[in-house]
Amino acid sequence: MTEDKNDKGMGGVGAKSTKTCPKCGAKDVVLVPGRVGPFGTGNNIWMGVCIFSAVKVSRYVCGQCGFVEEWIDKKEDIEKIKRKH
Ligand SMILES: [Zn+2]
Repeated sequence: MTEDKNDKGMGGVGAKSTKTCPKCGAKDVVLVPGRVGPFGTGNNIWMGVCIFSAVKVSRYVCGQCGFVEEWIDKKEDIEKIKRKH
């Protein structure tokens, strides 16, 4: 028995950590960065009606099967949502 350092493959499941599609296994995952445009254009989650409370969401899109995974970039934004909901 060899003792391999298995630093990937355990835990970290999902397009964000593995850069691999969890659905079809393709490594063709494209990152679409979160943006908050002047009129709220781009992909974000609305927190009420105020634009300043919009939260940036990054999307990881699989170029093979079209699976989309969404992640909030900033920890403080996650805290915002936790406080609000
Ligand atoms: Zn896929």
